Amino acid sequence: MENYSTLIADQKSFFRSDKTKDITFRINALQTLRKAIKNHEAELMQALQADLNKSEFEAYSTEIGFVLEELRYTASHLQSWVRPEKVKTPLTHIGSNSYIYSEPYGVALIISPWNYPFQLAIAPLIGAIAAGNCAVMKPSELTPKTSEVLEKLIRECFPEEFIAVVQGGVETSQALLNGKFDYIFFTGSVPVGKIIMEAAAKQLIPVTLELGGKSPCIVHEDANLKIAAKRIAWGKYTNAGQTCIAPDYLYLHTNVQEEFLQYLKAAIVELYSSEPLNNPNFTRIVSKRHFERLAAFLNNGKVYVGGKTNPEKLSIEPTVLTKISWDDSIMEDEIFGPILPVLEYSELSEVIEGIHEHPKPLSLYLFTENNSIQEKLLNSVSFGGGCVNDTVYHFASPHLPFGGVGPSGIGAYHGKGSFDTFSHKKSILKQTTRFDIPFRYPNVKNGLKKIKMFMK
Ligand code: NAD
Repeated sequence: MENYSTLIADQKSFFRSDKTKDITFRINALQTLRKAIKNHEAELMQALQADLNKSEFEAYSTEIGFVLEELRYTASHLQSWVRPEKVKTPLTHIGSNSYIYSEPYGVALIISPWNYPFQLAIAPLIGAIAAGNCAVMKPSELTPKTSEVLEKLIRECFPEEFIAVVQGGVETSQALLNGKFDYIFFTGSVPVGKIIMEAAAKQLIPVTLELGGKSPCIVHEDANLKIAAKRIAWGKYTNAGQTCIAPDYLYLHTNVQEEFLQYLKAAIVELYSSEPLNNPNFTRIVSKRHFERLAAFLNNGKVYVGGKTNPEKLSIEPTVLTKISWDDSIMEDEIFGPILPVLEYSELSEVIEGIHEHPKPLSLYLFTENNSIQEKLLNSVSFGGGCVNDTVYHFASPHLPFGGVGPSGIGAYHGKGSFDTFSHKKSILKQTTRFDIPFRYPNVKNGLKKIKMFMK
């Protein structure tokens, strides 16, 4: 097993030089990164096409454009985020002022997955740099072309003692986890998330875990069915369903089942054509292993739309399966592919109960025009975040910190959320020496009586 202690030690000593804490250094680093991404745009698109057959439109909107926007937003707000925040001081502390300092942790480890191999590596890096950290990045081994461009781009921008990319698979990841990092930011599956947290616990390293799970999508009987169908088709089949926050399965109200499914079929044809397997812009499945895992679900329930595959191209049609129950194998784990199973319901309580019986989802989507149903569901079910009358879109707002809860993740990021995630919040009291209020001292006369006037 390789040893990364020299790399980590070099980063620690660079961190201790305090260079990364300088606000101009941070903003310059963000701008350098932004420029380099723009310069490598064509190369990145080719790599994403080779790794996953991502179309240029998807590559730009969900990976490249997304991080350019995040970089722009962060660089323009950073000045105000880094300032120590002055907070109130209670009467008992008269004479003093109170502040919260945002302090970088030091050297961060960022481990990322293959499904958005560029965006999910760079977006946390933006937070790490903004907050003043050094970072070691470990991109996914399953998207080698993109990881290669990523490494080249980072090398061009930064010295290794500031930001480094380490390539490799599970062994490399595990070797890195033995290192004395100050923070670990992991995006990936639930089982690996547990391994990461266990390794971090051994050294008490703080973590963010961006995990996955089965995200429900509920279509109530009063929903705007046509709009719901199009937004669900887009959220589910973008990146061929290999999106952590894609609607995993549908809860569809019995009264609108037929009508909604027809709209959904039409939306799939509109977005991906009537022969998606021949559509050059439809993303493929990342590996043979995942293709076979997904293809095995196609005999669950009844195929309503799609169902065809192309094993050579590792491609699966956008598929909808009806007559599904929680006992079907497709309902066991996160699907992570272009297959949408449909459960029927007639009472909202069935939906709430069904979700309660399973691990807390990363996202939830609810389509209804009824405000009280919206509030009822938002208040009774726990999940990372989500949308009412949309899918996936909450992910792209810098004002909405993104993350899971419990089994779907710990912590959140994006926008200021990323800066906060990579900053330790250090509370500081600055006391006066012009006077010294005696109440706290044990020798004060009637001390208890006096202290009870302030602390009651
Ligand atoms: P994964 O957990 O298999 O791998 C993620 C990273 O961990 C990779 O870099 C991999 O090399 C490393 N890794 C794998 N096994 C390891 C081990 N035993 N020890 C240490 N490191 C190990 O995930 P994946 O298949 O690349 O990605 C898909 C998963 O990621 C899905 O579950 C999805 O929901 C989740 N995901 C979550 C988000 C989010 O933001 N919450 C985003 C994208 C994907």
